[in-house]
Amino acid sequence: MQLSEYNTDRTYTAEVVRSERITEESTAEVRHIVLRVPDPTFQFLEGQSIAVLVPGPHPFGNAVHTRLYSIASSREGEDRNMAEFSLCVRRCTYIDPISGERYPGVASNYLCDRNAGDRIEIAGPYGRQFIPPRDPSCNLLMIGIGTGIAPFRAFIKHIYEERGGWEGKVRLFYGAQTGLDLLYMNDRNADISNYYDEATFKAFEAVSPRPHFDEPADVRGSLQGNAEEVWSLLQDPKTYAYLAGLSSLEDELEQALSEIAGSRQQWEALKLRMMEEGRWSTLFYE
Ligand SMILES: Cc1cc2nc3c(=O)[nH]c(=O)nc-3n(C[C@H](O)[C@H](O)[C@H](O)COP(=O)(O)OP(=O)(O)OC[C@H]3O[C@@H](n4cnc5c(N)ncnc54)[C@H](O)[C@@H]3O)c2cc1C
Repeated sequence: MQLSEYNTDRTYTAEVVRSERITEESTAEVRHIVLRVPDPTFQFLEGQSIAVLVPGPHPFGNAVHTRLYSIASSREGEDRNMAEFSLCVRRCTYIDPISGERYPGVASNYLCDRNAGDRIEIAGPYGRQFIPPRDPSCNLLMIGIGTGIAPFRAFIKHIYEERGGWEGKVRLFYGAQTGLDLLYMNDRNADISNYYDEATFKAFEAVSPRPHFDEPADVRGSLQGNAEEVWSLLQDPKTYAYLAGLSSLEDELEQALSEIAGSRQQWEALKLRMMEEGRWSTLFYE
């Protein structure tokens, strides 16, 4: 779905409650930003996203610059405060291929530069396909990279805190450039590590083999290293799979899963069945 197809007619004013960097200074900046929308008509489910509307003027003449961000809180709100929710935002910069100059991404820098008390305009929430099943005996296979962790933080909080536990297997394969970039699983913020003791939860962390060469995290290797468990989960009709993060990850994951399945054909057939049964959901972005 194109960004222009999202309806942003109904907007809400959100106040920044707090914004904290959750990666070390030596690595890419990612912030956990808590927003408050006191309007009770604003309700969301874990896995949904919101639009952030950055007021102009903008270089390309657009009055408002709009970008989507996944909600990192579960439906009962950040810290169980239903008026509040969080985003996990990476400060983006881009290099112009011709001039070689570095440009800041508009919305991500706008968000990362907001301070407590600032007000921003948002719209949404959007997306109802990327939500956990109701049946607690279902298995959840979550595969993500970078800020793709945001919806999974929401899932994990929802199933273990708001639902009081989960009987099915919950498996998180998560990749980041370095150990310091493992969001919500590092010294600055260990929100997800707090659930490592849950009997049904297992997290598999993957980092880049050559971070200085900008090589991506080895999620593929992590999946292949646990091929037996992944394959048995994928074949279980009670497994719901979720993939989130940068779209560059998609091809690599498809390849890894084809290898695990034995062939591309076998994998495509299984994926089709999962899609038809509403058990395969992806949330990829540039
Ligand atoms: C459903 C969904 C959920 C998302 N969730 C998250 C999330 O949880 N966290 C998160 O951090 N992001 C998320 N994103 C990505 C987010 O929406 C933005 O795309 C991202 O933050 C970059 O936006 P920006 O406005 O900062 O950059 P922009 O200003 O929009 O720049 C984006 C693009 O424009 C090009 N560009 C920009 N400026 C220049 C320039 N001056 N010269 C040349 N090229 C340029 C770049 O190549 C880049 O591809 C999500 C996206 C989607 C679709």
